[in-house]
Amino acid sequence: MLTEPLPNTLDVRKAAARGANVSGTLGAVKLPRFQALLADESGAIDAYLAFSRDEEDRAVIALKFEADVSVECQRCLQSMPLHLAGENTLAIVWTDEQARHLPRHLEPLIVTGEGYNLWELVEEELMLALPAFSYHDTEDCLQILSEYAEPAPEQEKGDKKPNPFDVLAQLKQDT
Ligand SMILES: [Zn+2]
Repeated sequence: MLTEPLPNTLDVRKAAARGANVSGTLGAVKLPRFQALLADESGAIDAYLAFSRDEEDRAVIALKFEADVSVECQRCLQSMPLHLAGENTLAIVWTDEQARHLPRHLEPLIVTGEGYNLWELVEEELMLALPAFSYHDTEDCLQILSEYAEPAPEQEKGDKKPNPFDVLAQLKQDT
């Protein structure tokens, strides 16, 4: 885990011109949209940003992140640990028009001012990396454990099911 906090804002074009590397740790609580999808406030993120200019003289950011968070299991509704990791390469552009002309391997990052919020940039990537649904592994899931724990009542219920032929016979008698 990194120990230095990730800076909040940075002049990303200057960083690219300098070839700066910026990394740091960040609590998920600092990212309200991402935090809203988590089960508790313990989430921690490490982010690594390498700024450079590519062969076409574009300002680019190679971004990598790892995060350990808790999310709600969609089966038993208990919290479960989730590890997220990902990377992306972004090109800093001024306009939509420039964004449209980027090669496919570059994701546009439209930056019109001097400072850009690195936290929001990382948050965006985390939101994309988060699976829509998370489930415990079978042996850890409370829902599945409770189903295994009560096989007997299930069995009894099955035995008491009315025989469809009896029901049919009953219907015939009634008419
Ligand atoms: Zn579960």
